[in-house]
Amino acid sequence: MQLIPSHPKRLAIALMAATTVALLPSCAAISQINLIPVSQDPILGAQAYPELLAPEQTIESGREYETVVAMTDRLVRAAKEIDPEVANLFEWEVVLVKRDDLVNAWCLPGGKMAVYTGILPVAAGAGGDFETGLAVVMGHEIAHATLRHGTRAMTRQQGANWMIQLAGAVIGGGEGAAAIIQGANFGANFLNLSFGRDAELESDRRGLMYMAHAGYDPREAVGFWQRMQAASGGQAPPEWLSTHPSNENRIKQIESLLPEVMPIYEQSRSSGGLKSFGGKR
Ligand SMILES: [Zn+2]
Repeated sequence: MQLIPSHPKRLAIALMAATTVALLPSCAAISQINLIPVSQDPILGAQAYPELLAPEQTIESGREYETVVAMTDRLVRAAKEIDPEVANLFEWEVVLVKRDDLVNAWCLPGGKMAVYTGILPVAAGAGGDFETGLAVVMGHEIAHATLRHGTRAMTRQQGANWMIQLAGAVIGGGEGAAAIIQGANFGANFLNLSFGRDAELESDRRGLMYMAHAGYDPREAVGFWQRMQAASGGQAPPEWLSTHPSNENRIKQIESLLPEVMPIYEQSRSSGGLKSFGGKR
């Protein structure tokens, strides 16, 4: 792979890009950069999906599966109404993975999702119905995808090296850029990417909006995160919590957002809520 473009014009632009990295004032500014065009998100996700699911056994029928599909359907419809310019570009799909030992769920860039059976009891709590608790999780995960945190984290991880290569490739016609992105082995890296604390809180906020708009009570998020805190006691947190704000901060933020999202929920309920299309989108 060519690190320094040979063409003088490409070299000049690459150097400009590299200098920009050096001059950026803070990590916060760097973390906002996303060199990957949004059109690449579904392509990256579709490549990574079978790779991440290959070792797993998936559940494709039954009450739990039907609920997971119908619930994510409603959230995706909400995301499409709230963030149509991104959510409509994605290829949404969900699988239920038979792993009672994993309290986890994720959504890849571009909309491919997985729910592990180990998270269902935590989502359910004492009531036994996991749908609204899981909507808290999946609203958050879907928000990571629509806010493009995965590809942004990938950009950050690849850093200045990518700036140089991609600047050269884009000037060279764009096809090289796709090859560089795909060469970074996104699938293997995705579950280890750290989105950062700000991104986590940003996803909590957007996720609450999605769940409220879909007709799920956002107040349930407080109880869910309290159960997560109890469930993860003493163990390493799953990927989607690994760079999390403390549960205390997270719950505090959720409580402070409730006055903002409750009207969305009330509005959704009074208009009958978003109905599932039964997995057909
Ligand atoms: Zn997260």
